Amino acid sequence: MPNLCLNFDFSPSISKLLKPYDYIIAGGGCAGLSLAYYLSDSTLRNKRVLIIDNDDKQRNDRTWCFWTSEPMGFDDILTRQWPSLAVIDEQGERRELLGGSPYKMIRGIDFYRKVQKKLAALPNFEFHRAFISNMGETESGAYVVADGQRFEASWVFNSCFRPRQVEKQPGRHHLLQHFSGWWIRTEEPAFQPETGVLMDFRTPQYSSTRFFYVLPLSEREALVEYTVFSTRLLHKKSYERALEAYIRATLGVAGYSVLEQERGVIPMTDQAFPQQLSPHIINLGTIGGAVKPTTGYAFLNIQKQVCAIVAQLEQEVSPLPAPLRPSRFSFYDRLLLNILQYFGEEGKPIFSRLFHRNKMGTILRFLDERTSFWEETKIFASLPILPFLRALGRVYVLTPLQYWFSGAGNTSAAKAQGNQSLLSTLQQKPALKSDFAPERGLARLKNEPMP
Ligand SMILES: Cc1cc2nc3c(=O)[nH]c(=O)nc-3n(C[C@H](O)[C@H](O)[C@H](O)COP(=O)(O)OP(=O)(O)OC[C@H]3O[C@@H](n4cnc5c(N)ncnc54)[C@H](O)[C@@H]3O)c2cc1C
Repeated sequence: MPNLCLNFDFSPSISKLLKPYDYIIAGGGCAGLSLAYYLSDSTLRNKRVLIIDNDDKQRNDRTWCFWTSEPMGFDDILTRQWPSLAVIDEQGERRELLGGSPYKMIRGIDFYRKVQKKLAALPNFEFHRAFISNMGETESGAYVVADGQRFEASWVFNSCFRPRQVEKQPGRHHLLQHFSGWWIRTEEPAFQPETGVLMDFRTPQYSSTRFFYVLPLSEREALVEYTVFSTRLLHKKSYERALEAYIRATLGVAGYSVLEQERGVIPMTDQAFPQQLSPHIINLGTIGGAVKPTTGYAFLNIQKQVCAIVAQLEQEVSPLPAPLRPSRFSFYDRLLLNILQYFGEEGKPIFSRLFHRNKMGTILRFLDERTSFWEETKIFASLPILPFLRALGRVYVLTPLQYWFSGAGNTSAAKAQGNQSLLSTLQQKPALKSDFAPERGLARLKNEPMP
């Protein structure tokens, strides 16, 4: 394990030592607040906990969707559930009832308010609004530096992450799932409120994988999101133009108003996200590897991850959660990421075949990584085989050869570099919206019209 403290030089002004905490939660977003919530519900509710975030979480910055039959701590704030899902392309629509695992939505603001309200009643849970610039090990725990103040605790749980700041590990895939959505209200009934549209591929692909995601709250109100899997973000106007064209031409909606907007970037990568930054700093959420690389779903994984941590802390064992996924799913994800990154236009036929030739329930269990090997074989047999064979060659023959010849194939060095680069991301203070700023000249993909 690299000694991360040695790499940073603290000025005396930032080493002012404040009272030690039992736990510091660095980043109070989905993972950090979920951890705080479950801690406050456990035998550890009297521990001294500090939650540090530079955002006060007073706005609806995202909505989370997931499917599950299990009850969980946030069922009372579900915005809506859909009993059926549909996937649409030029061949038609595949719609299916989900049985006992409906598709569920929670709005970020409802989640933040629920947790903040619960913790406000517990004086031993403190919030501190500050920018975290560093963290490292002490003799008996770990510290965090935020806005020049140093805080210490027995354990630090870190979920600070900004997708555009992570250094790319060589030999890995680095796609982005980026999307822009509008909550709209239409003048005439336009949606089927019982069905969420997971993917509607009726849009030009421009050498990448693109689709719309439609979640209706009623016949006249829905979240309509334009989603792209690619290595580069688009110009803001490209998302808006695509949304406008889809709503008017594809959905046939003439009159509507935009109530709210949602934008986001989720990393789609097989890069290693270490669960531990150093012995007493545990990574959570996106930075802790909770995002499924080929779908961007993380909410349920985060709930499982933090519940496992709370259980281990209660048993007074090291709170390092077991790896979230069976390794064969990493293999499947790597192949699909390779296809999506280098031959993005092959995404649409693969997803279309997946949804047209398999039962929705089986697909959702596959995406949840709960299928048997036999079920996975049947799923792969339903997909176009050539793109996967080519990806196999590129991933397991071409890329290793390329890195072997270039001398960059040392995986333990890459892992150490991964830890280091995660830590170094903290030291660059970004503008809050920087995750969504396309780099100059990179906004246009092959054949895509200029915004
Ligand atoms: C718009 C959007 C929609 C999504 N929708 C879904 C979905 O439908 N289903 C699903 O399963 N997943 C979804 N995801 C993926 C994933 O569930 C979310 O990104 C989730 O919020 C990840 O949780 P997290 O705690 O790791 O990160 P966040 O929730 O982003 O929390 C990280 C926190 O750290 C803070 N922070 C970062 N750096 C610093 C710093 N240096 N100092 C202080 N604070 C810092 C941030 O302000 C933030 O509050 C979505 C992601 C986005 C962006």
